[in-house]
Amino acid sequence: TKWVYAFGGGAADEMTGDARALLGGKGANLAEMARLGLPVPPGFTLTTEVCTAYYANERAYPAELEGQVEEALAALETKVGKTFGDPANPLLVSVRSGARASMPGMMDTVLNLGLNDETAEGLAKLSGDRRFALDSYRRFITMYSDVVLGVPHAEFEEILERYKEEHDFQLDTEIDADGWEEIIADYKRAVKSALGEPFPSDPRDQLWGAMGAVFGSWMNDRAITYRRMYDIPASWGTAVNVQAMVFGNMGDSSATGVAFTRDPSTGERGYYGEFLINAQGEDVVAGIRTPQCLTKTMREKMGDNQPSMEEALPEVYGELAKVFDTLERHYRDMQDIEFTVEMGRLWMLQTRNGKRTARAALKIACDMVDDGLITQEEAVLRVDPSALDQLLHPTIAEDYKRDVIAKGLPASPGAASGRAVFDSDEAEHRASLGEKVILVRVETSPEDIHGMHAAQAIVTARGGMTSHAAVVARGMGRPCVSGAGEIRIDAGKKQFTARGRTITDGDMITVDGATGEVLFGEAKMIKPELTGDFGKLMGWADKARRMKVRTNAETPADVQTAKEFGAEGIGLCRTEHMFFDADRIAAVREMILSEDQDGRINALAKILPMQRDDFAEIFRIMEERPCTIRLLDPPLHEFLPHNEEDVKAVSEATGLPADALMERARALAETNPMLGHRGCRLGITYPEIYEMQARAIFEAQALVEKETGFKPVAEVMIPLVATARELEILKVRVAAVARNVERETGVAPVYLIGTMIELPRAALRAGDIAEFAEFFSFGTNDLTQTTFGLSRDDAGKFLGAYLEAQIFERDPFVSIDQDGVGDLIRIGVERGRAARPELKLGICGEHGGDPASIRFCESVGLDYVSCSPYRVPIARLAAAQAAL
Ligand code: ADP
Ligand code: MG
Ligand code: MG
Repeated sequence: TKWVYAFGGGAADEMTGDARALLGGKGANLAEMARLGLPVPPGFTLTTEVCTAYYANERAYPAELEGQVEEALAALETKVGKTFGDPANPLLVSVRSGARASMPGMMDTVLNLGLNDETAEGLAKLSGDRRFALDSYRRFITMYSDVVLGVPHAEFEEILERYKEEHDFQLDTEIDADGWEEIIADYKRAVKSALGEPFPSDPRDQLWGAMGAVFGSWMNDRAITYRRMYDIPASWGTAVNVQAMVFGNMGDSSATGVAFTRDPSTGERGYYGEFLINAQGEDVVAGIRTPQCLTKTMREKMGDNQPSMEEALPEVYGELAKVFDTLERHYRDMQDIEFTVEMGRLWMLQTRNGKRTARAALKIACDMVDDGLITQEEAVLRVDPSALDQLLHPTIAEDYKRDVIAKGLPASPGAASGRAVFDSDEAEHRASLGEKVILVRVETSPEDIHGMHAAQAIVTARGGMTSHAAVVARGMGRPCVSGAGEIRIDAGKKQFTARGRTITDGDMITVDGATGEVLFGEAKMIKPELTGDFGKLMGWADKARRMKVRTNAETPADVQTAKEFGAEGIGLCRTEHMFFDADRIAAVREMILSEDQDGRINALAKILPMQRDDFAEIFRIMEERPCTIRLLDPPLHEFLPHNEEDVKAVSEATGLPADALMERARALAETNPMLGHRGCRLGITYPEIYEMQARAIFEAQALVEKETGFKPVAEVMIPLVATARELEILKVRVAAVARNVERETGVAPVYLIGTMIELPRAALRAGDIAEFAEFFSFGTNDLTQTTFGLSRDDAGKFLGAYLEAQIFERDPFVSIDQDGVGDLIRIGVERGRAARPELKLGICGEHGGDPASIRFCESVGLDYVSCSPYRVPIARLAAAQAAL
């Protein structure tokens, strides 16, 4: 087996297969840069297979390794014209780890390896610069001791600080050669007393020690944790790169730096980076000295008065700029680069695809299409759909000084300021007067919907990422911080306290739903810019995708937002949300609390015109896009009055005595409402409810058609069906209403009748059910609850432990459980389509906006996904990526 691959001097060892897998990211790119003829200090890479073999074999190297390393080292000596360990002309190397994916937690790089008292002396003579040689030596001792020998960095810092104090120095650069000599002697003493043995002086011992430390670090706790978090298999292993040193610390024509080929935060064209003259390695990022700007433009923008590299080292800068171009054209992506200049000569030490913000990702992808560097499909694949969230909401200006009052979970993105309000009715009232308010609650329930809607943002003291507040806020596009446990709310006094401060009703606060912070005062905001690039990329995505994207929405404002974001229909209109509105909750309660059918019919007659108007409003906005409207779903008791005032209102409206009403309310209480009298079970037992809703839908269609000429398309959806018979009965009733409305209005409504598949039995019996259903919408929220037998509202108590123990890989309410819930969907799709080939299939529920779940939906062949309005662009992009 070939365990060692050489690079440098315009070439690299030939290899087959995936270079990254074998050589790691850093090694593969070093080899690639060498092949491109770029100036890369020569070196060699021990493959990831060495690492794998090492662990497979009780931490022993393959027998051939030592010979191959010796050979590679000899070849390297020839290339560079220096000899490892030779005091007269010493070769120094760096030892660098490099896994397939960049991985914090791995061993840090060791520079200047090969130095000891003799070779340091030789380096001093050869360079004619004793200070430089000793500076390199002391860096080596510090790094090697820290990362290989485990002597903490602080020990060396202390010695250095003490020396500087004694001599009244501020900067390391003030220390001369004799000074470093003294410090080095102290360093060596510190190592000896910490380890009981001297610092290793044989360069070969140093080399094997460093290589061993890299392989060893693959299994350290930090690396293991990181791999678990990002799902990186331990079997990948890390590579080790051994590379001839070049020196950025050889005086004023030497330097080291890092750069991006474009601005990683805005995506603007133009090089972006920093460098330090007369410095080595990580000095730039270490923050010991203030780095200088790479370009003149950047320097001017930042108002920096140190010269830029473009100005200080114009020739090398010109060369570097050419390298940037070559690399971008070769990798066809923005590059993040590390380089060193040794006495006016440029050396490339690393390149990789650069990390970037969502805004930059978008701009770079579009610019690269314009430049003909990548195709439109590639551009679509380059942008992370979830990151679009950052672009769709206002965010807090970077330079705004945050005064944090409390921190909770980043439950719904975006930021907003407003006055703290502690009650939903109050929030609605104050908002109607034009005030911007933030709703602050211990937690929220369906009764807070109007308050949440009226508020700019929501803060709760309790609840997780899938709490009511979080889910509803995301759906409405309201920023939300949930579970801010450190705030103590006193609703009576209309105030909360946190971190020793008290915020009272009317105080201005800001919610940052992206970080989970609650700030005091009104923050400076940046408006989302759905600029040309955004529209362009979305257009390309739309061309590439197969699935349609709809939205879950019921209020005209949300429907309008979703349409602007590109929703092609409504996948879920939850009629019960309309029941909570102030103008009708009394009538709804009257209906529920009625003793008999007549009472219910009376109350429903009051609700009908309001529902009709709701639907008409939606149809006007959606025009001929299909709208799936779900008939009443939740258990009735959710609408029950909770206090005497509510009861009194109902009593006045109905003439029924208050205690009779209370009695009736108690009778409606259920032990397990989620599995109780709800969904189509209500429809079966109280036919008049669904009949009223169906009538409202069809009448609204007739109304809007007469008014606009558009033919609205309704998909009437019956929830919680478990058996074909339930659907059969209800379908007949709904169809009868349609016929009646057609007779009355003269307009034939365009409609389908279908069902939500949200119970395991429904998925399994999809064949029977499809006989009566023209469409299925997989209600994956409830399907997840019922498949796992897990209540979403209670999962918070143990979900964390389940994720920790890796029982769940991801929260199944956020990303679909593809094995279990996914199997039921697959079965539902198959059996449903077998019975009715033209069956329309979609998904509603939180998962419809989750990219991984969307990929799953594509793979099982659904016709559309539906998600909350603000996730529509994310779903459009994710659906395109799934199709490509
Ligand atoms: P990291 O993965 O933490 O960036 P690197 O292996 O890239 O670690 O090394 C960090 C820095 O050390 C590089 O950016 C470079 O400045 C310096 N360095 C590494 N190898 C060499 C070398 N052969 N010659 C000069 N400097 C080097
Ligand atoms: Mg590092
Ligand atoms: Mg690096």
